[in-house]
Formats: sequence, structure tokens, C-alpha cells
Amino acid sequence: KSGFVSIIGRPNVGKSTFLNRVIGQKIAIMSDKPQTTRNKIQGVYTTESTQIIFIDTPGIHKPKHKLGDFMMKVAQNALKEVDLILFMVNAEEGFGRGDAFIIERLKEVKTPVFLVVNKIDQVHPDELLPLIEHYQSQYPFAEIVPISALQGNNVETLIEQIKKYL
Ligand code: GDP
Ligand code: MG
Repeated sequence: KSGFVSIIGRPNVGKSTFLNRVIGQKIAIMSDKPQTTRNKIQGVYTTESTQIIFIDTPGIHKPKHKLGDFMMKVAQNALKEVDLILFMVNAEEGFGRGDAFIIERLKEVKTPVFLVVNKIDQVHPDELLPLIEHYQSQYPFAEIVPISALQGNNVETLIEQIKKYL
């Protein structure tokens, strides 16, 4: 199995920490799947049976100034060209305006989206459920996976879920 996965989310939610953990020291082997040049490949997860190419989608994060229509279109198209989108949020900080902005962009594409709730090591389990329910009320996520990218909790489960969508 092989596919492209875009990771989006506000700054500091833990995107880089997650990628570092998942990619580790594995050697990246590029697939022959067509790939758009405007997206930056962040890393490739490779096993004997699976290749997951993680890409960055510039322009999807809430801009300080209004983005031009062209830039916005470029970002939207990038979200359409991947097999799956991981929308990473921060359990410690909760729902924010940056999240609302991203959710509006997600509503414009048909690509399946996972809600990845990171930093669960920082919150009490009782706080997690209401937070997840709030996100769920905003968008029909294909899967919801709470993780700790830093400690590694549930990261393998997330990879297994991703494989189902490649
Ligand atoms: P990015 O901006 O989304 O790429 O976020 P980073 O990966 O740079 O992480 C931002 C900060 O959050 C860093 O200090 C990380 O160590 C911390 N961080 C990332 N994941 C976790 C986590 O699961 N638990 C905790 N406690 N901290 C985390
Ligand atoms: Mg980063």
C-alpha cells in the first residue's frame, strides 16, 4: 500500500514531533505515484508492505493577512490531491480560532480527514471526551485518534488506521 497524507494543524500542536517519531531513521524510498511539486514532502514512512508519504500543505493555516484567491486555491487543491488529511489538534489548548479556520477549509474538500488529538499526556481523560465531542460537532471526521506524539501513545494505532485509507 502506498499513498499521500497531508498533516495540517495550528503551530505547536506537535506535527514535527509526530513525524520525527514515525519516520525515525527509516530510509525514504520514493513512489512513482504522481506528486505535485508545490507540496513539500516532510518524510516517508516505509515498511515492506507500506509507504506513507507525509506532505505539508502551505497556506492552509490561518494567515495574518488575507491570502490572495490564488494562494487559497493552491492550498485547497493540495488537500484534494492527497489520499488522507490528518488534522492535528492540541488537547492541552483545546479548540481555537485557528482550528475553526482550518475546519472551514476542510468543508470544501472531499478527502477523508482524521482528527488527531495530540498531547493527551497533558490532560485528564475526563477532559478529553468533551473536547473530542466539540470537534466532532464541527466536522464529520473519518476517524478520531488521541495520541501523544512525544511519548508515543497510540501512534502505532494511528499508522494502522492510516493504512486503511491508502
Ligand atoms: P508543530 O509546530 O506542530 O510542528 O509542533 P512541534 O512538533 O514543534 O511541537 C511543539 C511543542 O510541543 C514541542 O515543544 C514538543 O515537544 C511539544 N509536543 C509535541 N507533542 C507532544 C505531546 O504529545 N505531548 C507533550 N506534552 N508535548 C508535545
Ligand atoms: Mg513543525
